Amino acid sequence: MAFKSLDDLLAERVSGRGVLVRSDLNVPLDDDRAITDLGRVIASVPTLQALSGAGARVVVAAHLGRPKNGPAPEFSLAPVARALGEQLGRPVQLAGDVVGSDALTRAEGLSDGGILLLENIRFDPRETSKDDAERLALATQLVELVGGDGAFVSDGFGVVHRKQASVYDVAQLLPHYAGNLVAAEIRVLEQLTSSTEQPYAVVLGGSKVSDKLAVIENLATTADRLVIGGGMCFTFLAAQGVPVGSSLLENGMIDTCRRLLDTYGDVIALPVDIVVAERFAADAEPQTVPANRIPDTRMGLDIGPASVQQFTALLSNARTIFWNGPMGVFEFPAFAAGTKGVAEAIIAATGNGAFSVVGGGDSAAAVRQLGLPENGFSHISTGGGASLEYLEGKTLPGIEVLNG
Ligand code: ADP
Ligand code: MG
Repeated sequence: MAFKSLDDLLAERVSGRGVLVRSDLNVPLDDDRAITDLGRVIASVPTLQALSGAGARVVVAAHLGRPKNGPAPEFSLAPVARALGEQLGRPVQLAGDVVGSDALTRAEGLSDGGILLLENIRFDPRETSKDDAERLALATQLVELVGGDGAFVSDGFGVVHRKQASVYDVAQLLPHYAGNLVAAEIRVLEQLTSSTEQPYAVVLGGSKVSDKLAVIENLATTADRLVIGGGMCFTFLAAQGVPVGSSLLENGMIDTCRRLLDTYGDVIALPVDIVVAERFAADAEPQTVPANRIPDTRMGLDIGPASVQQFTALLSNARTIFWNGPMGVFEFPAFAAGTKGVAEAIIAATGNGAFSVVGGGDSAAAVRQLGLPENGFSHISTGGGASLEYLEGKTLPGIEVLNG
């Protein structure tokens, strides 16, 4: 990759200089707006720490969720500012607006090493506008916050596949650098695509085939094994003519799945047993049935133990593994064993020298929630959509622009 790194910026003068950082702080919140997974906050710390430590006046842009109608308290970054301050061991100011008078006043008042988090960048509809001029107008206002000799550090890997004002357009206005997180993520994805040691096994799960069709198509041609579980496996099972009860099913994707099975039948592995229940609930009674015997009145919420065993065997000799998407509804303990079992198989393969990458927000959350060792994997990506698009072979606008 041709982009300049954070180290390149630090080698220049940064003390007293305004540096705009795009971070990915899009964390999951519970009903009380408490952060349930700090992964992305923690992953954003090294770049911010380095800049602050070098005396930069750091202005951070980030989003939370998908606010549709401008500022809304339930999408405020306030809990994130607090958590970030705790992780950094120094206070993080939160601006009351995005690029308004409060942000401007606070940015101008920043001391060397000070950190200001702008309010949710998506409160400004220009951030995600399809109109280049609108995005440019917001980007220009962001640049004003760091002044004429400012710099831009792109560290929000989870958004680099988006052509958005704080990701793409600002990089065209300021000297730009890849932050440590973006650089690390790209290094790993390059290793996954350009120097893939074989056998290469891909594990896909999660809720929908339609979300991941492009990556399935692409990885089916490069992987030696494509193991499919999670909610998406039922559309594949249905394509084989098997009844799937009230399981998650995408009728519009059945033909596509049939074609994939016809073309890549020797690469794709589907579960042989399924843990079913009467309803989608944590306290629903789990029952394991063969994958071709799902009762009409039951829904599949996890892969069964025989599937875990079969998938474990398929993963055991892999040299490279990419995993995206939980094998079941891991949020319910009674339906988490499939995800846990497959994760343990990947950890075991990693222990035997395989290079393993976990991509996907929910997959990463599952690793932490199930108490699995994060360092059991070679890399856990912070950006599900971004890593999938990279693996689909798409160019990521937020990376492309850093190369210019
Ligand atoms: P990731 O974020 O890792 O890419 P996805 O967002 O595609 O993963 O999917 C994660 C979600 O899929 C989880 O919330 C999980 O509960 C759900 N899921 C997995 N298996 C099933 C299933 N059998 N039925 C319904 N939902 C499922
Ligand atoms: Mg997800």
